[in-house]
Amino acid sequence: MATVAKKPAQVPTKPTAKSTDKPAKAPASNGRGGKMTYYFGQTRTDGRGDQKALLGGKGANLADMTSIGLPVPPGFTITTEVCDLYYKNGKQLPAGLMDDVRRAIGMLEKELGKKFGDRDNALLVSVRSGAAASMPGMMNTILNLGLNDDSVVGLAKATNNERFAYDAYRRLINMFCDVVMEVDHQHFEEAFDKIKAKYKAKEDTDVPAEGLKALCEAYKKVVRQQSGRDFPQEPLEQLELAIKAVFGSWNTPRAIRYRQVEGITGLLGTAVNVQSMAFGNMGDDCGTGVAFTRNPSTGENRFYGEFLINAQGEDVVAGIRTPLPVSEMPKWNKAIHDQLLKIKKTLEDHYRNVQDIEFTIERGKLFMLQTRNAKRTGPAAVKIACDMLREGLIDEKTAVRMIPAGDLTQLLLPSFDPASKKKAEVLATGLPASPGAAVGKLAFTAEEAVERTHAGERVLLVRKETSPEDIDGMHSAAGIVTSTGGMTSHAAVVARGWGRCCVAGAGAIHIDEKARKITVGGRTFTHKDTLSIDGSTGEVMAGEVATQHPKLSGDFTTVMGWADKYRTLKIRTNADTPEDAQRAREFGAEGIGLCRTEHMFFGEDRIQAMREMILAENVADREKALTRLLPFQRDDFAGILKAMKGLPVTIRLLDPPLHEFLPHDAKSQAEMAKSLGVSPAKVKVRVQQLHEMNPMLGHRGCRLAVTYPEILVMQVTAIVEATILCKKKNVDAQPEIMIPLVGTAAELALLRDLTEQTIANVIAAKKYVGALDIPIGTMIEIPRAALTSDAIAKSADFFSFGTNDLTQMTFGFSRDDVNTFLPDYIGKELLPKDPFQSLDVAGVGQLVEMSVQKGRSTKKGLKCGICGEHGGDPASIVFCHQTGLDYVSCSPFRVPIARLAAAQAALK
Ligand code: PEP
Ligand code: MG
Repeated sequence: MATVAKKPAQVPTKPTAKSTDKPAKAPASNGRGGKMTYYFGQTRTDGRGDQKALLGGKGANLADMTSIGLPVPPGFTITTEVCDLYYKNGKQLPAGLMDDVRRAIGMLEKELGKKFGDRDNALLVSVRSGAAASMPGMMNTILNLGLNDDSVVGLAKATNNERFAYDAYRRLINMFCDVVMEVDHQHFEEAFDKIKAKYKAKEDTDVPAEGLKALCEAYKKVVRQQSGRDFPQEPLEQLELAIKAVFGSWNTPRAIRYRQVEGITGLLGTAVNVQSMAFGNMGDDCGTGVAFTRNPSTGENRFYGEFLINAQGEDVVAGIRTPLPVSEMPKWNKAIHDQLLKIKKTLEDHYRNVQDIEFTIERGKLFMLQTRNAKRTGPAAVKIACDMLREGLIDEKTAVRMIPAGDLTQLLLPSFDPASKKKAEVLATGLPASPGAAVGKLAFTAEEAVERTHAGERVLLVRKETSPEDIDGMHSAAGIVTSTGGMTSHAAVVARGWGRCCVAGAGAIHIDEKARKITVGGRTFTHKDTLSIDGSTGEVMAGEVATQHPKLSGDFTTVMGWADKYRTLKIRTNADTPEDAQRAREFGAEGIGLCRTEHMFFGEDRIQAMREMILAENVADREKALTRLLPFQRDDFAGILKAMKGLPVTIRLLDPPLHEFLPHDAKSQAEMAKSLGVSPAKVKVRVQQLHEMNPMLGHRGCRLAVTYPEILVMQVTAIVEATILCKKKNVDAQPEIMIPLVGTAAELALLRDLTEQTIANVIAAKKYVGALDIPIGTMIEIPRAALTSDAIAKSADFFSFGTNDLTQMTFGFSRDDVNTFLPDYIGKELLPKDPFQSLDVAGVGQLVEMSVQKGRSTKKGLKCGICGEHGGDPASIVFCHQTGLDYVSCSPFRVPIARLAAAQAALK
């Protein structure tokens, strides 16, 4: 039998793996001078826990766990460098690798007292992928490798369990041929169904040993028919093919897509872990499980997980059988449960982080198969960091670094309004797999979820269980429901990683994918029906249940307190209503970095005056329309300045091209003409006049004020009047005026003069006597402005980097159309990530850096901030910190993320 040795080494009766007898002498080189295989076991352990890039996360941690004395089945890891070489060599294993592998197998044989391919005492191994970044279920795994027609007989004898041995063999043939020989899984299913029918077996487990024996023969036939080859009997041949297949699985479309979605780039490839088998399916004193050292959903400090008696690891993850919670384990085997609790402590003391472990119990003996830092929800991350600090496991700086800043979004997620939820009809309750509240219409396939989401619908993806192929749909959907599977099923793990709301294993729901309907409790719901799901309780409810904004916990406030202690960047928000400003302030915003005034012209009461202004044929008519807009603007500004009292508010003057305020279809143009009392032809002509081939590069930003200075005058007047109104009511209003899309110093000088003159005029007209110091600055969003920032700074009191436009113009990528080709660029790794989401440090970043430096060479200490979307992106915030910006500005919901990311940047 194949696992960690319990018996002393034996002389093999029939050594079939001839090459293991003669290991190569010189250690092979991988062409980089490094080792290609790293052994872990009692004999010796070559790798270390900090070698994740080389050994993959799994390989590094197996070495680490072995080193700290945990019971790990011995094995070895083939490095990620070998995977890189495999691809560079045109999908050939590098010279000498198989000699190294043979040598490592020889060590394993010695340590375990078994022999690869031996008839009576065969060494069996698992072959698994493992990259530096976790990619759950994305790559290939093969178990029981080393079994063949001979050794299966020996395994049956040694274990006195024929059924077990042939079950292991049929699983190997199935997995191996699926993965290595690309035989469609369906053919194996059909063969199994025939055997089940023959033995009148309902479940796989009802098939007796002789049935499984026949199944192995049937499977071999399937392989021959489908691939034209025989299932390889030679274990080293099996191993070589399996290694190649694992390397191959690094670049399958689904693995590539997963890396795209997760933003995983810059890795060499996957490592391959070859590990002696430990069997959880030899009988009722065996089992397998997946657990977390703390609850990954809530962060509660309690050993948490699931196990199955008499099962292989894949059975837990695949969600085929419903596992038991580990809290039930003492009833089955108290000693193992106690040992696991001890291991929980050892692991947490060692890693000082929550671990996600896989274990197997073979005939009452525990083996650790894997450990890694556990993925957790945002709320769990916050609680765990606070708890571990209180427990003395980590210090404050480690706690700050430990929480992925982006995951704080989940704490700010909506939940269901308790009153509405009380009235809701609960259709089924599954497992609370990933918290949050989601409402949507039902989608039955991943493709459908993607399509309907793109078309603007909110959908819930409803599946029996999910598989890696479903990730696009899972990512698009507002929430995910599965009818089978546990807390560690694919759906649960992936959804939690993303913070996507998920209810798993809602068994009362029967899904008919073909008919696009579900039935539950005698009721039917189709793709047209809306359901609501609560990922924190597992409830699935009929109809749309109202949601509410979250209440933040004490731990959240603690974390924010630490963040504020360590960060040096200020955090502002992009907001253009008093409500948004207020919310951002509650989240800790220290001012408004961008108030986009164009949003204020769309209200029903304003758009008419705006359109009159646009249609005006002379200055007088334009001014007349602007006079009507002025009070609206003044009130808007007063509201925002009041909500942000005591904090700076950067108000940007009108930016978009004027055509954006006019209707483009004939019917709406006719309606507009009627309400303005002009002819439809006049409207049409003006729309045509305003048409531009490249409006983003057209008549917009400060260019509008150059052509129509009266627009600037109206907006500045409104800002100053609002400020005076506030001041008179003792409200500390602190406006800053920002001129957009400047490309030359002359533009800014001209418009600054006009702004200053207007401020002076309003002060005089209002006979205001107090101090009114309104800084006037500009956005840097055109490359030329960045290049000439020393000259531009002469007329600017501050710079704010509009990195949306700066990215657009630096790359020459239209920000509105980039998605037609950007996925190809990311897929082909021409770009590491979407530069509109995460700042392109090498290009756009260089312009920002240069601009800051040039601007400050003219004006020492010139205040610089960023207000593009990048202001809320943790990676971009690191750049902003390192470049010496004074603040970042982001949307209200991202303010807490930015606070934490800024602290993490300061602690780097
Ligand atoms: C920018 O260009 O980065 C910016 C903040 O302005 P807008 O997105 O409004 O063009
Ligand atoms: Mg812009």
